[in-house]
Amino acid sequence: MKPADGKRILVTGGAGFLGSHLCDYLLRQGHEVLCVDNFHTGSRRNILHLLGHPRFELLRHDVTAPLAVEVDEIYNLACPASPVHYQTDPIQTTKTSVLGTLNMLGLARRLKARFLQASTSEVYGDPLQHPQTEAYWGNVNPLGIRACYDEGKRCAESLCMDYRRQHGLDVKIVRIFNTYGPRMHPEDGRVVSNFVVQALSGQPLTIYGDGSQTRSFCYVDDLVRGLARLMQTPPETAGPVNLGNPVEYSMRALAETVIRLCDSRSGILFMPLPGDDPARRRPDISLARKLLHWAPEIGLEEGLARTIAYFRQQLDDAEPPPVDGPLHAPAAAVGADARQ
Ligand code: NAD
Ligand code: UDP
Ligand code: UDP
Repeated sequence: MKPADGKRILVTGGAGFLGSHLCDYLLRQGHEVLCVDNFHTGSRRNILHLLGHPRFELLRHDVTAPLAVEVDEIYNLACPASPVHYQTDPIQTTKTSVLGTLNMLGLARRLKARFLQASTSEVYGDPLQHPQTEAYWGNVNPLGIRACYDEGKRCAESLCMDYRRQHGLDVKIVRIFNTYGPRMHPEDGRVVSNFVVQALSGQPLTIYGDGSQTRSFCYVDDLVRGLARLMQTPPETAGPVNLGNPVEYSMRALAETVIRLCDSRSGILFMPLPGDDPARRRPDISLARKLLHWAPEIGLEEGLARTIAYFRQQLDDAEPPPVDGPLHAPAAAVGADARQ
């Protein structure tokens, strides 16, 4: 039975970093949550605390296969997000983005359910416009090592818009910019988790390239609030909408900040820059401010302090969380065709 005051909500990729926080948030709002995940990069540990919850259900399933469930809303987050991991099996990454999104859209169509697609700032590629607005079409190399992810996500966006035009589906597209926080896997390979784990364990922080490339980092709680707010918008609002923190940092500045906040004596190790690594990235969030009355509230130092506390605990607790996926790939970027 559906809870009287809540909806039944499917979160694909719900055992991942963002998905598990979204499951927490939706349960706190009184909804019933069905988490679907194949544990490719996600971990049972992220949702262990929810397994006994009366309104939470877990289904191990790969979204590239059809799915028959009954829900009111679908948040489609299933997809590896770290360059190291989406490049380990690029064909699977494209299948997850394209076939997975197609299946979840077909499910939404049959159920007349609202559908939110977790897209990415990567659709802007190595952007020639700075900061990036939603009107920018991007600068993506369709043949490079990031294309499985970038083009997969671009195709998923176009599928969403076609289901909207062709079948009248209520879709929402969110372009998520770099988001970090507790429950990133220690071997995830993304920059914040790498730097924090390295600083806490006294290893040198691995900067790819000269560290002048920039990113803008959003704390997970801010992001999840934005996702839920976009889902509440009327059917006229499909997006895409950028969500992210517009404060921009170089990777060198990030490394120095992490070392300081961890009170670490780690040094810095410069490594080759992976192919097609975007030089600059910063969201223009005017649309999110206007449509959703949303803006990030947690600054980098506060978010990093919370993240560092989480990883400190994880490292103290011993073994990293078990995964079935490719998380044991090397911490440096896979297939790094060095540019320098
Ligand atoms: P994550 O790797 O922690 O989570 C992805 C989850 O999807 C994992 O639990 C994984 O096991 C699951 N998954 C992967 N392929 C699947 C499949 N075929 N079937 C079922 N489950 C599958 O990454 P995340 O950071 O939590 O990212 C979640 C979503 O947000 C992704 O779609 C990602 O592209 C998007 N996103 C994230 C960021 C970010 O900075 N965190 C930025 C842009 C976009
Ligand atoms: N689909 C699904 N669950 C459903 C309905 C559809 O997984 O409850 C999948 C279905 O297998 C198909 C995809 O969604 O591959 C697209 O479905 P749609 O009905 O839109 O198109 P069609 O089946 O005509 O290709
Ligand atoms: N990066 C780095 N050291 C690392 C991991 C990443 O310097 O250990 C760089 C990476 O080359 C990129 C930026 O940090 O320029 C962000 O990388 P991440 O993989 O977190 O996300 P991206 O925005 O590239 O998808």
